[in-house]
Parts: sequence; structure tokens; C-alpha cells
Amino acid sequence: MRAEKISHVGIAVQDLDKAIEDYRSILEIDHVEKHEVPSEGVKVAMLRIGESELELLSPVGEQGSIAKFISSRGEGIHHIAVKVADVSKAIEEAKARGFKVVDERPRTGAGGTLAAFVHPKSLHGVLLEFYSR
Ligand code: ZN
Repeated sequence: MRAEKISHVGIAVQDLDKAIEDYRSILEIDHVEKHEVPSEGVKVAMLRIGESELELLSPVGEQGSIAKFISSRGEGIHHIAVKVADVSKAIEEAKARGFKVVDERPRTGAGGTLAAFVHPKSLHGVLLEFYSR
């Protein structure tokens, strides 16, 4: 499935409010949207940059994937998300082509968005997210 644009770049951070402050001040960003995904142990802030966004991800507790990422690799770029017209179809097509996927079917995120991840082992070390927005 054709990727329509870079939707966002996900960055794992330890302290969400400090990271928001730093990225806002250096990039002069006005629009910030915060939400929490308790089931995944993560707090999120989306910072709008034109047509794309930065997604700052910080851990809640020590069990979530972001907590594990930071404890093994430190803060930094976590994933790249591309917008596709149909997330279910994109992940099915990726599987059919032999890519290793993290999600067999899309998960639902904030505001009813859909997301599904392709494993970094299949993509030269980068975790790729198919995203509906
Ligand atoms: Zn993302």
C-alpha cells in the first residue's frame, strides 16, 4: 500500500513535560495535544509541524514498551509513522510480502485512530507504523 506522507516521528522521552517544553521552544510549536494510553503504559504528546507531527512518548510505570525501550536504549527516535488509506490492508500486505509484523491487526488509539507496526528486524532497524491519520 502506498504511503501518503510521513505522519509523525515517535520519540521516546523520560519526562514528557520537559520534552514538550524543549521541543516547543526550539521549534516554536503552538499546537500540542496530550493524551494517555494506560493499556500501553504510555503518555503521549503530539506536536504539530505543518502536515506532520512529532509524537513524544513517555513511560507510565515500568512495564510498557516505552519504559523497556528507554531502559535498554535510552531516549531517542522510537518509530516512524506513515499515513496509509487502510491500516488493516497495509499490515496484511506487509505480512503477505514476508515482512515481520508486530501487530496482526490494527490497534485503536486516541481519537479512534488506527495503528499497526512492522518489526524493525524487517526494516533495517526502524520500527515502522502504519497510521490512519
Ligand atoms: Zn506513532
